[in-house]
Formats: sequence, structure tokens, C-alpha cells
Amino acid sequence: QVVTRFAPSPTGFLHIGGARTALFNWLYARHHGGRALLRIEDTDRKRSTQDAIDKIIEGLDWLGLDFDEPPVFQSDRAGRHAEVAMKLLEAGQAYKCFATLEELEEMRAQQRANKQPMRYDRRWRDRDESEAPEGAPYVIRLKVPTEGETVINDEVQGKVKVKNAEIDDYVLLRADGTPTYMLAVVVDDHDMGVTHIIRGDDHLNNAFRQLPIIRAMDTIEGGWPDPVYAHVPLIHGADGAKLSKRHGAVGVEAYRDEEGVLPEALFNYLLRLGWGHGDREEITREEAIELFDLDGVGKSPSRFDIKKLQNLNGHYIREADDARLAGLVAAKIGTDADEKLLTEAMPVLKTRARSIDELAEGAAFLFKSRPLEMTEKAAGLLDDEAKSRLGGLSERLHAQNDWTIEALEATTKSYAEQLELGLGKLAQPMRAALTGTTTSPGIFDVLVLLGKEESLARIDAQAL
Ligand code: GLU
Repeated sequence: QVVTRFAPSPTGFLHIGGARTALFNWLYARHHGGRALLRIEDTDRKRSTQDAIDKIIEGLDWLGLDFDEPPVFQSDRAGRHAEVAMKLLEAGQAYKCFATLEELEEMRAQQRANKQPMRYDRRWRDRDESEAPEGAPYVIRLKVPTEGETVINDEVQGKVKVKNAEIDDYVLLRADGTPTYMLAVVVDDHDMGVTHIIRGDDHLNNAFRQLPIIRAMDTIEGGWPDPVYAHVPLIHGADGAKLSKRHGAVGVEAYRDEEGVLPEALFNYLLRLGWGHGDREEITREEAIELFDLDGVGKSPSRFDIKKLQNLNGHYIREADDARLAGLVAAKIGTDADEKLLTEAMPVLKTRARSIDELAEGAAFLFKSRPLEMTEKAAGLLDDEAKSRLGGLSERLHAQNDWTIEALEATTKSYAEQLELGLGKLAQPMRAALTGTTTSPGIFDVLVLLGKEESLARIDAQAL
């Protein structure tokens, strides 16, 4: 059975790249009828606050990525990590290193001076413990094979090789008995039964250091098969550099709260960021599960394009349920918002909006109080001539009982004809009076949404 995992380190938010990694893992597990697991890599206690952890879980939940077991917290498992280090030590696959910090400093200084690669020189690999001073502190290092090479058949990167001599005997357990990251990841993946490791290709180098632990444990006790690796190219910004804060928002939360993006839009966008299925654009969650596989993951970095995401979001807004959108918009607008009215207005509002914020902006006129605040442009449209035209229109509208788009349009058109004016010449001052702005949904939609009483009150406030 396929088991995947998403293993974020809490940093304060769910990075957009992390969200994509989570999505790929989730889809791969769902596609193969396997399990998707979550592991919080919270060993850096300073950064791993409860708030940072909650943000990740919230972001995943918002994207609709559910996991098949409660999250594993890496920090809970330090005892087990140490246990594996001891097994490696006992089996002679790891060793105690008593080198002092000063000694290692000196070693590095020499390597630097000789322009050698800076790497631990395995000085304690073949020495006996008895050579160390009584009670001296030590770390436990992995005895990495020095001959041959390690080959990974990565599902995305293809065949990648590294000479074993280039992999250092890195630390598994620190002098204080705490595990290093490299050890923790391997032990957790094994214990969680992870079969497929799908993650950013910034971890490809780590794979070559993690595999020797797996292989050593497999020779010791069996049952530690190589996982399948898929290292996915990172997301880049428009300038081709790795996506980071200087490109704008990088947190999923910011896309939800500041960019007004719907989760299904971000889901679809992230899906196609680095994965493709022909030229298919709109893919439902169900289709994504059906179609997703690792052979559709591209080998080169993908570029994050906010315009594309916004357009896609517009598409999903038009497809979304009106009452749901009304709820989201009401939350943006605050206490004044009437969800029922917003739901009614939504078919008109959503035709062009590319974000929840744009919807909220478009809806603002519904909740303005009188006297209406006017933009400068709107006020400019309301000269005396326009005001007196509004007066004439108001008379006709007062007399009108059929407050429907068709009837209102007929009345307004016939009045414009009488004045020998194009409809626009009348509609623009109407818009200014009714909304306080120069852009709004169709003017007859505006009249209907506001209702007769409110519409006339707004028009009469400007009419002469
Ligand atoms: N915790 C690591 C990160 O957030 C991921 C580790 C892994 O996937 O192996 O980058």
C-alpha cells in the first residue's frame, strides 16, 4: 500500500511551495488508494510555536487536504530516534566521535587553507573509545560506506548518483543525546510506514545522506526498504529566483485573507504548477485524484504567476454558490453586510470579480448610508444639468410600481429619448447618485437591488 507524508517544519505559515508538496503527496496517496500522513517537524522548539503549527494545519484544512491519521510530532519521538542510533552503534554501523569543537575548527581551517572540501575527516571512525579521555563528551556518527556510489532512481529527477566518498560521516546523535534532523526524518518515515517521499528538490542532497541509514538498518534488522523518491523542482518567482517573500505573499493564509482567493482556485493552480495533464486547465478535485501521477511532474522549476491565479480565481468565483460567496464577502465587509441581499446581488457582482475583495468592493454600494460618500469623479458628474435630469427621472420613477429591470429600463429609455439623450448620458449621473462611484453593475440591476425606496432616496438627495 502507498503511504505518503507531508513533513513541514513550522515557520509561522504554510508556504505556497509547501502547500503544493502537500497537495502532490495527498493526490498521490488518494490516486493509489493509499494513506496520506502528516508529520510536524517541530524539533526547532523556538520556531515551532503552537500558533505556527495551527497555521499549517488550518491552511491544509482550508485547501481540503485531509490526512488519514492524527499528525505525528517529531519532537515526541526523540527517544525512538536515540534508540535507532544505539542500534547502529551496537552493530558497528555508527561510532562515537570524541573530537572537540576546537579540534574540528582546526580541521576545517586546514581544509580551507588546502582548498579541500570541508567535511569531517572520519578521525574517530577507526579509533577505539579507550583512546578518549575518561568521561569525555561524544557524538554518534554514521559510518557511511567510503567505496562505491549511491544511486537514486528518482521518479522526477531520473537516475542520480553520488560517490559515497563525498558523503561525510555526519552526526546522528548530539553530545546531549538529542537526534539530528537527518536521523529523525529517516526513523519517522520508517516508523510511519512511508513508501513514497515526495518533496522539494532542495532535499535531494539529503536523500543521499538518509539512504545510508536506511540501508544500514535494513542489514541490521530487515524491514527497512528504500523508499521511492520524487524530488519536485521548486517554485520560482517571475524573475526566475526561488519564490520568497520579496516576490510578494508566499503564505497560503495571505492568499486566502489578503488576495481573496478561493481554496478550489488555489488547489487547481498549485496542481498545475509543476504538474500537467495535456492542456487540461480546469480539473476538479475528483478528476485530479483520478489523473494525478508522478510522471506528469515536470523536471524544471515552475513560475508562480499571480495574474494566472487571479484569473483562475475569477473563474471559480463565477462557478461558486452565491450564498457561500455572500458569506465570504459579508465577513470582509463586516457588521453592515446583509447576507441575504448579498446573495441576491451575487449573480450580478460576480460576473467580473477576480477576488473576494473585488466582490466586496463591488458590493459596497449596497450598504452605504445616506448622504452617500462620493468619489471625486462621481461628484463631477453631478452638475446642475445632470441634477435636473435626475429630478425628471425621479418623478417618473416615483410613479412606477413595476420595479423590475425590464420596466425600469423602458421608463429610463423613454425619458432619455424625450430628452434626446443617449442612455449613457442619463445612466452615468444615475450611477453616481445611486452608488457614489462611476463603476458599478448595470444600472437597472442597481435599482432593483437597492429597491424602490432606497433608490429614490438616493436619487432625490441629488436631484434638482
Ligand atoms: N521538514 C522539511 C521541510 O519543511 C521537510 C523534510 C522532508 O520532507 O523530508 O523542508
